[in-house]
Amino acid sequence: MSAIIGSRARGRPRTRHRLPPAPVAPARASRYPAGMDTHITDCIVIGAGIAGATAAAHLSAERRVVLIEAEEAAGVHTSGRSAALWVANGGPEYERTLAQESFAFLNTPPPGFAATPILTERPVAFAVPPEQLADLHEILASRSNIREISVAALRAMIPAIRPGYAVAAALETGNFDIDVDVLLQGYLRLARSHGATVAFRRRSHCIAHQDGHWRVETVSGASFHAPVLVNAAGAWGDEVAVQAGLRPLGLTPKRRTAVVIDPAPFEVASWPRLYDPRRSWYCKPEARARLMISPADATPTHAQDVQPEEIDIAITIERMQQVLDIPVRRVERAWAGLRTFTPDGAFAFGEAIEANRFFWFVGQGGDGILTSAAAGRLLADLVAGRAPDWLPGAARILPAIDPRRFAAA
Ligand SMILES: Cc1cc2nc3c(=O)[nH]c(=O)nc-3n(C[C@H](O)[C@H](O)[C@H](O)COP(=O)(O)OP(=O)(O)OC[C@H]3O[C@@H](n4cnc5c(N)ncnc54)[C@H](O)[C@@H]3O)c2cc1C
Repeated sequence: MSAIIGSRARGRPRTRHRLPPAPVAPARASRYPAGMDTHITDCIVIGAGIAGATAAAHLSAERRVVLIEAEEAAGVHTSGRSAALWVANGGPEYERTLAQESFAFLNTPPPGFAATPILTERPVAFAVPPEQLADLHEILASRSNIREISVAALRAMIPAIRPGYAVAAALETGNFDIDVDVLLQGYLRLARSHGATVAFRRRSHCIAHQDGHWRVETVSGASFHAPVLVNAAGAWGDEVAVQAGLRPLGLTPKRRTAVVIDPAPFEVASWPRLYDPRRSWYCKPEARARLMISPADATPTHAQDVQPEEIDIAITIERMQQVLDIPVRRVERAWAGLRTFTPDGAFAFGEAIEANRFFWFVGQGGDGILTSAAAGRLLADLVAGRAPDWLPGAARILPAIDPRRFAAA
């Protein structure tokens, strides 16, 4: 095998089950243009966001893995642009379960995974205007870790709350900030310590299935061969499927905006996150005593290096100022990211409708970070054909996220 690009692991060897060696390169390389950089392995993962990184970390415990990424670094797209929240109470059963099952890993990662904590507790406060009282009561009735507090108590925590805005308030505990970069680098380090290779600047553009092997050719002229292909390309998931001649799922990337301001004269470091019950906006303390605000927008778009729109930045500030009396002299930073959804909004984890050992690992929407640890473990089980005995409710969850549910569409 020719030398592999990128940051090949020099991690210590581990005792682990390895698959039999793949066919040797020279015989196959001769089928491709002379000079093509050819690599043969057990599994190719496309996309080094949080999904591809956790996939590589888990899959590489039992097979040789190459993770290829179009950009110069991991997490350049959605995974580097999130709000970084671990929530206790979100969404449908599959999402809550994957979040809960991820918690132990994120809270107590394996030795050597991270030098600093991944999770930091941060409660969520709700400021409730009159027209959202019914929404608050619904939330209070459906969750155990939330309690109503007085508006005065809310203002004691967040003195910037405008007098007269909130008629009720609540505080939810058991939520955490996630250090996404530490988590992402931890997955990559774990993958490398298992012998996986991470190859940056390798954008797939042509994928073929031949003799039981996937052949992924990249724009830069490298060629990767493996019997298993994992599509963790986020917003580009359908594009990768089309490259492989498979049916796209109908993914929709949705733009979400984030704006960072200097909240002076307020000191926000100890503030909880602040939402309204309808989640029409939120804010949270950001590094260096700044405040991150999002209008919780979800504008359908296409896969791209998405940028924030001026109008969304203006809406963000306006929505925040209805609730908080904070002067905004200038926006320090703004970004947008793509939250990508399947047609029914649920994740798509598992083998493609066309089979052939092409695995979808996409559609994580707004929850890909907080569910990532269990999601990677689940994907490794699906690739190995193992029942995920550790996953409560697996018999209900697997059909809900199986990409083959779109077969009839
Ligand atoms: C504003 C915002 C707030 C969010 N808040 C939260 C939150 O609080 N908690 C939470 O859990 N989640 C949150 N999310 C969602 C979370 O960020 C995503 O679910 C997650 O990052 C998706 O990860 P991914 O790896 O699938 O996608 P990405 O990070 O986009 O990774 C896909 C990668 O594939 C690469 N790629 C694409 N095509 C190719 C190709 N042909 N060849 C090689 N590489 C390719 C791309 O370059 C990219 O690096 C938020 C998202 C946004 C935008």
